[in-house]
Amino acid sequence: MHVIWGVVMLVLAGWGMSGCKKKVISDPRLADFSSLKLPALPSSFGTTRSADLPDLYYDPDLYAFVSEYIKDAKSRGVEVADRTIQALRIMRWVDHLSVGEGSGVMAACSRYYVTETKYFLKSDQILWTMIEVLRGKAQEYTDGNRLLLRELLYHELSHCFLEKGHLPDGVEGIMSPVFTEGDHRALKTWSQLLDDNFSQNYLNMMPNIGM
Ligand SMILES: [Zn+2]
Repeated sequence: MHVIWGVVMLVLAGWGMSGCKKKVISDPRLADFSSLKLPALPSSFGTTRSADLPDLYYDPDLYAFVSEYIKDAKSRGVEVADRTIQALRIMRWVDHLSVGEGSGVMAACSRYYVTETKYFLKSDQILWTMIEVLRGKAQEYTDGNRLLLRELLYHELSHCFLEKGHLPDGVEGIMSPVFTEGDHRALKTWSQLLDDNFSQNYLNMMPNIGM
């Protein structure tokens, strides 16, 4: 069996912010969908994938949102595959994002793919994923409110677990590309935001971001 390895990193960033409550700073939309190609790994890299997986690391207060997300999705008819859940190997607070940091970005879902070529057929599979939350910006945005943080994490989890991109302009939801500081919509309409996020109508509006 001959396997050619390559890893593509897709950076997904979350949400806009500024010190001014009325003004929304949005990252260039492209920042959310840029892919960076890492150098192809030598064939001597081997055939065991576990060699390339980072150690598991979860900050408990962030990881708590995973089971809540899975439950909320399931009760609305959306199943997250076990394999996808297990691929999320890192969830942590950071002072600097490992990838994709830019003006206005509060959090990011990074997804690492492996491309295999077998019998001339290429296939891409998620190898592992990581969610990082910028401590300073996220705390400024949420002001210590867990529900606002939960909405932010649900945004990133939808990127990592559902492989979904952002809602189109003019459609408000958890997967809007920009969150507005001071808006606090989650405090007023959380159950509606959840129903919408996992509805077929909204899911159809979010582009698939699988490689
Ligand atoms: Zn996003």
